[in-house]
Amino acid sequence: MVFQLQRQVRPLVEIDQLQMHYPLGGVWGSKQSLKAVDGISLHIRQGETLGLVGESGCGKSTAGQLAARLLEPTGGRIFYKGEDLLRLRSDRDKQLRKQIQYVFQDPYTSMNPKHTIAGLLEEPLRIHRIGTRSERKAHVRDMLEQIGLNESYAPRYIHELSGGQRQRIGIARALMLQPEFLVLDEPVSALDVSVQSQILNLLKDLQQRFSLTYLFISHDLNVVHYMSDRVAVMYLGKIVELADVLDLYESPLHPYTKALISAIPAEQRGQSRGRIKLQGEIPSASNTPSGCSFHTRCPFVMERCRQEEPTLKLIRPGRRVSCHLQE
Ligand code: SF4
Repeated sequence: MVFQLQRQVRPLVEIDQLQMHYPLGGVWGSKQSLKAVDGISLHIRQGETLGLVGESGCGKSTAGQLAARLLEPTGGRIFYKGEDLLRLRSDRDKQLRKQIQYVFQDPYTSMNPKHTIAGLLEEPLRIHRIGTRSERKAHVRDMLEQIGLNESYAPRYIHELSGGQRQRIGIARALMLQPEFLVLDEPVSALDVSVQSQILNLLKDLQQRFSLTYLFISHDLNVVHYMSDRVAVMYLGKIVELADVLDLYESPLHPYTKALISAIPAEQRGQSRGRIKLQGEIPSASNTPSGCSFHTRCPFVMERCRQEEPTLKLIRPGRRVSCHLQE
């Protein structure tokens, strides 16, 4: 009974056939485009962390920016608690934008260096006209404590802080409007390994404390493994595999996922599988290969793969794979 009720709960975020195609100047009217995100569908349940992993250039950051409404998609739909985010009245759109926040890889590039930390944290509240001046200041002090700093940081500037402290401020700023859903775009990639674990643990604590839901984007398989409940693997603008984290890491099914996981050092993987080396670079998203877009690098390529594009099929509950080998 409980299981049935859980199944009926609608996910917090539902992404349906989302596309981001950038038109390119074509020759003689040809309609070429760069397919940064090419028809992805997934959902994120309340309170979970969905990891989104893939090589640089696979479209995962663009997908995150679309989910956080920093970009308007060229196709597809995004539902938040069942509401179609692309068809909202402007007042409702403004309300829901507060619920969805984005944490950048390097907060330094996304914040005004002329503002103090207090000014940076207060800014979202000022924009949305929330609280009196003294209430906003109290909220800033409280948030600094929540992210492991204190009010002595309020008058400082972002360039005076270490990389880890900057990322704490990036996270604090994203939390100022009390959102429910955070898109975390490579939040620890620019940090030393020792600092990475502090920030990851902070993110886990904050998720518990504030009942947050995360879309966690990273190229680092270890970090994604540590943070995620489920993982989506992206290649050339598409999801090629989607699974619970343990299932995915213990038995990857898509050849691309197998190659990514085999590249994790054996002592961290805890398994003796050999390394699968991928040949060549990821192709350009403006000139994707025919058939399966992975066929130019796949060690298991068949003739059919060059002609026919596989679809993301349900293999078993919670497990989807896009590969002819799984049919
Ligand atoms: Fe490799 Fe073919 Fe599967 Fe694509 S469909 S991943 S080319 S085996």
